[in-house]
Amino acid sequence: MGAPPAEGWGSVDAGTERRVQKLLARMTVEEKFGQLQQLTWNPDTGPGEGQNDKAREAAAEGRLGSVLNITGAKECNELQRFAVEESRLGIPLVFGLDVIHGFLTTFPVPLAQGASFDPNVVTTDAEVSAREAASWGVHWTFAPMADVTREPRWGRIAEGSGEDPYLTAELTAAKVRGYQGDDYSEKGRLAACAKHFVGYGFPEGGRDYNTVDISERRLRDIALPPFKAAVDAGVATLMAAFNTVNGVPAHANRHTLTGILHEEFGFDGFVVGDYNGVQELIPHGVAADDADAAALALGAGVDMEMVSTTYADNGKELLESGRIEMQRLDDAVTRILRIKVRLGLFENPYTDEDGEIGEPTRSARRHARETAARCAVLLKNDERTLPFGEDTPSLAVVGPLGDDTQELHGTWAGPGARMFPAVSVLEGVKKAVPDAKVTFARGCDITGDDTGGFKEAEAAVRASDAAVVVVGEKASHSGEAASRSDITLPGVQEELIRRIARTGKPFAVVVLAGRPLVLSGVVEHAPAVLEGWHPGLEGGNAVADVLFGKVNPGGKLPTTFPRAVGQLAQNYAHENTGRPYDADNKYTSKYLDLAHGPLFPFGHGLSYTTFGYSRLELSEKSVSAQAVRDGGAKVRVSVRVKNTGRRAGDEVVQLYIRDKAASIAQPVRRLRGFERVTLEAGGSRTCSFELGADDLGFHSNDPRGELLVEAGEFGIYAGGSSEAELNTTLTLT
Ligand code: BGC
Repeated sequence: MGAPPAEGWGSVDAGTERRVQKLLARMTVEEKFGQLQQLTWNPDTGPGEGQNDKAREAAAEGRLGSVLNITGAKECNELQRFAVEESRLGIPLVFGLDVIHGFLTTFPVPLAQGASFDPNVVTTDAEVSAREAASWGVHWTFAPMADVTREPRWGRIAEGSGEDPYLTAELTAAKVRGYQGDDYSEKGRLAACAKHFVGYGFPEGGRDYNTVDISERRLRDIALPPFKAAVDAGVATLMAAFNTVNGVPAHANRHTLTGILHEEFGFDGFVVGDYNGVQELIPHGVAADDADAAALALGAGVDMEMVSTTYADNGKELLESGRIEMQRLDDAVTRILRIKVRLGLFENPYTDEDGEIGEPTRSARRHARETAARCAVLLKNDERTLPFGEDTPSLAVVGPLGDDTQELHGTWAGPGARMFPAVSVLEGVKKAVPDAKVTFARGCDITGDDTGGFKEAEAAVRASDAAVVVVGEKASHSGEAASRSDITLPGVQEELIRRIARTGKPFAVVVLAGRPLVLSGVVEHAPAVLEGWHPGLEGGNAVADVLFGKVNPGGKLPTTFPRAVGQLAQNYAHENTGRPYDADNKYTSKYLDLAHGPLFPFGHGLSYTTFGYSRLELSEKSVSAQAVRDGGAKVRVSVRVKNTGRRAGDEVVQLYIRDKAASIAQPVRRLRGFERVTLEAGGSRTCSFELGADDLGFHSNDPRGELLVEAGEFGIYAGGSSEAELNTTLTLT
C-alpha cells in the first residue's frame, strides 16, 4: 500500500486518512465490528483448543482486530497469517501486551521511577522494553499508567508515578515518547496506551475497581493532566477504566470519552476497553444486558472491546434498531485503522523470527542498574550510618528479601521475570565488597508469624561490624486486585528490625515494596532507612551501589509516606480547613491520637551530601491575570541550589505554588516544576522555571472546563521537598 510518507505515520496526514477511508468503504458491517474486537490468547493452549481457535477463526473471517497476551515472533506470525492471507481484506491484527516496566529486562516498578524525578529514566525503560517486546512480535503496550494515585492501599499505585498530577504528566509523556519514538512504525518501537481513563486512582477505601466520586474540578486539575500530556505527546491509544466516575462507569462515560477526550483534547487515536470492561457495565448496574452494554460503551466512545464480545454479538441489531449510528461505528473503525496504518502493519505485518532478542543485553542491564539506583530514596540516615565503608571487615545481610531473586521484579513484570532471576541484595553486597566476610540469615518470612529465625539473624548481626536488613512486600502485594487494608510491613518483619536494633550494631534497613508502606515502627528503631522499591532485575547491585556510596542517592518520594493507616488518604496537595491552627498553616485537621502530618512528605529524600537554597527570584513581582490567561504571559522563577557538603550528589529542585485566595479553595501547595541536578561538592546551579496559565490556573466545577486564572497573591516555594521553606510572593493583578 505504498511507502510511509517522509514525516512517518506518526502524524495526521492526508495519505493515511485516504487509505483508511478507502478501506472502510470496502468493509461489511461484520468486518467493521470485527476490527472493534480484541480477543485474548492463551499461550499454554495447544492447537485445536478453546480460545486460541476462536481467535484463529475470527482472524481468518475478518472478524478480529486485535489479540492480547500473544508473544513470540513465530506464534504471532502464525496467527497474523490468518488475518493477512485468509481474510477477505487482509487487514493485519495488532498485538497488545502489558509491557509495564520491562519485557526481558525488568526495570524498577513505575512508582519507583516516579521517585527518580527524571524523565530520562522513564524514557530509557520504555526504549529498552520496546526493543525487546517488539522483537517478540508485540506492537502495542498497555502502558503507561497515567492514573494519579491518591490511595496507597490501592495496589495499582505501583504502576503509576505517584500522587502528583504535574510529576505524573511529565513522566507519562516521557514514557509515551520512549515507547513510540517519533514514529512507531520504526523497528523496535511500540504504540503506547495511556490508562486508565479516568479517575481509577481514587477508589473509595483503596479497594481496586471501587467507586470513584470525584468533583469536576478535581477531575480536571488532578486526574486529567497526565492524559492530556499523553495525548499531546502523540499517544496512539487510551484504555477506559474499570471504575465509575460520579455514578457513570468510565466505559459508558460520554462526558469523559467523547466530550473531554475527543472534543477538548482532539485525540485521534482509539480507546480500548479494559478486560471485559464493556460487559461489566451489567454488574455496574447501568446496562440490563449485553446489547445494552454494547450500545452504551460504543456510544460513549470505547472503540475496541477487550475480550468480551458484546459489540460483535449485538452490533448488527443495534445498528438496525438505531441504537448505534453507522457514523459512530465508522469513526471507531477509522480510529483503529489509522493506528494500524501508523504502525506500518500493512507494510510489515510480520516479525522477523530470527530477530528475537534472547536475553537482557549488557547495556540493558546497565540501564536497569543505573535506573534502580537513581530511583532509591534515602529516607533516614542518622549519624551518617550510610554509606558503609568499602573496608567494612564483616557484614550481615538479614531479612526475608535479603537473598530474594523473584519478588524484586515487582508486579506486572514481563516474561523476563520468569526467565532471569533478579540480582539479590546479598549477591550485590558480596560483589560490592569482595574482601568482606558477608553472612546471611533470613530471620523470618515476608508473611506469617514465625519468629523462629530471629535468633540466628541476631547472632549473625552480633558477629558482624554492620548489617543490612532487607524487608518489604511480595510482588503480589501490589498491582491489580492487590489492595491491602493494613500497609505496614507484612508479618513479623518489624519485630525482626526491633531485635536487630537491640544488638547495638550499626545497620540500615532496605525496604523493597510496590507502595508507600507505613514505616513508623521501622524508622523508630533503624538508624538508616533506604527505600529501594521493587527495583527489578539489577536490584541487588543497585542497592549495593547506594549502600556503599558508589552512587549517592538522589531519589525523592513521588507520594506521601503516612504515619499510620488511619491518616489515609493523605496527600501534600490538600486544601486547608478553616481551622488549621498550625503555626505555619502546613497541616489541617488533626487526630487526637496521632502526631499530625506525614512520616515523610512528598518530595522528601536525603543524600550523602547536603544542599542549600538561595536567591529565589521572579522575573516580575506582579503581572496581570488577563495577560497570563489570554496573552500567554509567563513569569520566570529562578532559584540557586548549592551543594554544601563534601561530595558530589544529585538534588531534585522543586517548585511549588499556592494560590492564597481564589474563588475555589486551592491546595496548600502544588508542584509546578522540578529539575534533577548533579552538583560537585561546593558546586552550585541556578534553576529556572516558567509559570503560565496552566500552572497558575485551576478549574471550577463547570463541566465545560474553563481554566480560571484569578487575580491575587500566590506563594512561591522552592526547595528539596514539598515542605520547602524558601518562598516569595507573586501578585496577579
Ligand atoms: C488491567 C489493565 C491491563 C489489562 C490487560 C486489566 O485487568 O486493568 O491494566 O492492561 O488487564 O492485561
